Amino acid sequence: MAKILVIEDTQDLREGIIQSLKCLGFEAIGAENGKTGIQLAKVHFPDLIVCDIMMPQMDGYQVYKTLQQDPDMMVIPFIFLSAKADKSDIRKGMNLGADDYLSKPFTMAELADAITSRLHKKSSIVDPYIAEMKDATSQISALAYQDALTKLPNRILLYQKFKQALEKAKKRQQTMAVLCINLNQFKSVNNTFGYSTGDLLLQTVAERLTKILGQENIVARINADVFSVILVDVSGKKFVEGQVKAILNSLANPYWLNGHKILIQANIGISLYPNDQSDFGKLLSHAEMAMGFAKQSQKDNYHFFQVEMEVKTAQNSLIEKGLTTALDNSEFQIFYQPKINFITGRIMGAEALLRWHHPDLGMVDPNVFIPIAEKTGRIVEIGNWVLKTVCTQTKIWQDLHPIPLKVSVNLSAFQLRQEGLVQTVSQILNQTQLDPSCLELELTETSLMEDVESAIAIPEKFKAMGIKISLDDFGTGYSSLNYLKRLPLDILKIDRSFIKDIFHAPQNATIVTTIIAMARGLKLRVIAEGVETQEQFNFLREQGCQAIQGYLFSPAVSAEQFEAFLAEDKRL
Ligand code: C2E
Ligand code: MG
Ligand code: MG
Repeated sequence: MAKILVIEDTQDLREGIIQSLKCLGFEAIGAENGKTGIQLAKVHFPDLIVCDIMMPQMDGYQVYKTLQQDPDMMVIPFIFLSAKADKSDIRKGMNLGADDYLSKPFTMAELADAITSRLHKKSSIVDPYIAEMKDATSQISALAYQDALTKLPNRILLYQKFKQALEKAKKRQQTMAVLCINLNQFKSVNNTFGYSTGDLLLQTVAERLTKILGQENIVARINADVFSVILVDVSGKKFVEGQVKAILNSLANPYWLNGHKILIQANIGISLYPNDQSDFGKLLSHAEMAMGFAKQSQKDNYHFFQVEMEVKTAQNSLIEKGLTTALDNSEFQIFYQPKINFITGRIMGAEALLRWHHPDLGMVDPNVFIPIAEKTGRIVEIGNWVLKTVCTQTKIWQDLHPIPLKVSVNLSAFQLRQEGLVQTVSQILNQTQLDPSCLELELTETSLMEDVESAIAIPEKFKAMGIKISLDDFGTGYSSLNYLKRLPLDILKIDRSFIKDIFHAPQNATIVTTIIAMARGLKLRVIAEGVETQEQFNFLREQGCQAIQGYLFSPAVSAEQFEAFLAEDKRL
């Protein structure tokens, strides 16, 4: 298999070329600048080098000249890539001794053609595979351009189409918008209904996008559940907003696939040319960044790129770094939020909530650092610390106060997938001597939906140990009644968002009433979180809810304060 080294500073293009070369059966490696390219050439001794001319610090000519000084390297065929189809550029490259030259934008077929013919000429290495492959290149290049499932352009073709659209936009002084669209519950759909339904969903999304956006705009699939759109002529932000809302509405309509009714929600990130950038890679990464913010946002499911997002992203790296030393530096603390029994009005237990005092950033919100800790895997170590600290503390309180205090700990999706979790929990219970029935583990619907089979197997093991399982933030995920019946649950926690608007949005009152009735039917206990007012409390009591948690009684407090509540037997 011939090995090709691609030296190209534009990340998208480099990755696109590498991906296509791999599709064509080559081994391909990439370098983002000339210096790295030279180092890689010396280590890997590739069969051919493809190198961009215009690169910062060291341009393609310098790379070529440097390699020519090494007798081992000078025999490697060298193809230049350039954004300028300038004759003098071509002449300069060829005069230096380069073997071929491609001006951007080139098609993958052209690149494949140049590579195969150069490899043929390199008489010492003639791979018989190459001859066959040459005929196949035109066919394969179609594949290299297209997403096989949806038949939409892929990232490489999207890039080329953008370049063409950019030329027009420049001439006509038009504004363009780059959109990144993520399907929120795609993983759950795959896991619940199977991959064939997941595939059908993607195809239907592609059809809806193409239909709504018409011929002139560009639609592509760039990742498993990420689509990208280029709106080629937009008159301003308001216009883009209109289009984005139309897309969101269209994608929110139910999908009937393989006999299932499926609902999904999309998030859209938007960047604008020329306001934000004119480099496609940057526009796309800005749109992706904005999409991430849309995903986290409680309010809107679309977001325009803003410069502050880059600041926030930088802050996230600071958090990521900080998390590596936070445990060793004792920066974490557990707060306890009381849970109140409706009948007695007394504290029956607490939810343990993690707090982090960052030395520079101050208090960091768990909604911010937990997802980062999950992404990096740190959550396992942190989660174990939380469990151990909470179990130790609860045992101390139980020995001091004569109430059957129960405590709940949140477990994230990543922890749930971790091998050895059950064993760790069991060890902690043994060491701390806490009665397992006093420990409750809070899992969310989304974390359980990620891998249905193990999602059932692991809680079942906990249950067998006597630990209680509660479903947190209930109502915000994707659980069907059938699924709920299969899960080994003890408690449902009604999400705060329903309680918050109980008297303003009538459907919320209905949802809460239905959840309570359903829990009764499934023989589950039910607790409402985020109870802030007496009216909410009264409503929940009338409906037969058994317990509450919320600012009405107390926010999460330090262990010392919680102990003071216990000592004074604070009641509602
Ligand atoms: P959660 O498990 O749903 O926790 C409830 C959140 O609602 C807590 O936010 C709590 O302070 C807040 N809350 C409680 N009562 C009220 C109220 O009456 N009004 C309002 N507005 N908010 C109320 P917090 O502490 O910021 O935690 C946020 C989330 O972070 C938690 O949501 C949980 O998912 C996660 N989390 C916290 N600690 C841990 C942990 O140790 N491990 C893991 N994996 N996740 C954690
Ligand atoms: Mg919770
Ligand atoms: Mg919750």
